[in-house]
Amino acid sequence: MAALITLADRFGRVATDLRVSLTDRCNLRCTYCMPAEGLAWMPQPDQLTDDEVIRLVRIAVERLGVTEVRFTGGEPLIRRGLVGIVAEAARLSPRPKLSVTTNGIGLDRLAPSLREAGLDRVNVSLDTLDPGRFEALTRRDRHADVLHGLRAAAEAGLTPVKINTVLMRGVNDDEAPALLRFALEHGYQLRFIEQMPLDAQHQWDRHTMVTAEEILTALAPFDLRPDVVSRGTAPAETWLVPGYTDAAGEPARVGVIASVTRPFCGDCDRTRLTADGQVRNCLFATEESDLRKLLRDGAPDVEIAEGWRVAMWGKRAGHGIDDPAFLQPARPMSAIGG
Ligand code: SAM
Ligand code: SF4
Repeated sequence: MAALITLADRFGRVATDLRVSLTDRCNLRCTYCMPAEGLAWMPQPDQLTDDEVIRLVRIAVERLGVTEVRFTGGEPLIRRGLVGIVAEAARLSPRPKLSVTTNGIGLDRLAPSLREAGLDRVNVSLDTLDPGRFEALTRRDRHADVLHGLRAAAEAGLTPVKINTVLMRGVNDDEAPALLRFALEHGYQLRFIEQMPLDAQHQWDRHTMVTAEEILTALAPFDLRPDVVSRGTAPAETWLVPGYTDAAGEPARVGVIASVTRPFCGDCDRTRLTADGQVRNCLFATEESDLRKLLRDGAPDVEIAEGWRVAMWGKRAGHGIDDPAFLQPARPMSAIGG
């Protein structure tokens, strides 16, 4: 067993939750994420190969104390090697918890093999229950595919299935109660995410974003109660929904990830790897550390682990969205991995 170092930073936080972006490409064009025409995609040779991804995940788990790995993108289900990558990650010791964040397209086909490969759970993004709105919002007519994907994930046992929802003013902000009812009825756990300044078009506007407070006001008819379980390092603040249980028979919950209005940077335990092998110590970091170069120059594991440790040590205390000098990172959400 390799000597363990941790991904600690100067503020006493230790990163144990790794987000791995497997591609910057996507089959949707959500308006809060990317423009209709898409983006200048990463050239194929720049992208880590499956073996390179697996090696970095292994180093993170075996040498750096990472205990959870979430595969994301862009859209991770369009990465051909996804099932094989999950299978390799599931063989690691200690075995990390494994999940995928996806838009759900193709999940109806892939859910059983992902489960068999060792995936524990999925987060599926769904912003509306209305197919016409879905098409306007994502610029693709794929609403039914997402619903099929959700169902297949639950049937395959990728549970708890969580739904991620971003509300936008005048677009879908009237749907909070209906989305929660839908999630409760199907045994999914809904989490609202405040819209963040990470869109490729730089159109985010603090004054028009839908806040956690507004979301909670819209959910008042559910008489939400503070959760009895401590939040720990989870980004979502959760509430219990009286009268409902989830698929496992536990009290039903709803979450709000209020990155903008109620930042949780002090408890952040995340480290991020982009599809081209750059470590980011924060979603909003403006600097990255190049592990791909180390890999391709033939560096041994110990040197790569040290590069990763140094990258995390420099993590800032907070994302600084409220700072007048705040600069949106050059990489949009889809190329960082949300
Ligand atoms: N394509 C997959 C999906 O949509 O789930 C994975 C990648 S996507 C970038 C991950 C999550 O980030 C999704 O739940 C999406 O809604 C969310 N997201 C994208 N852009 C965002 C933004 N500007 N603010 C807040 N959340 C955002
Ligand atoms: Fe694609 Fe996800 Fe971005 Fe939507 S949020 S465009 S599904 S990467």
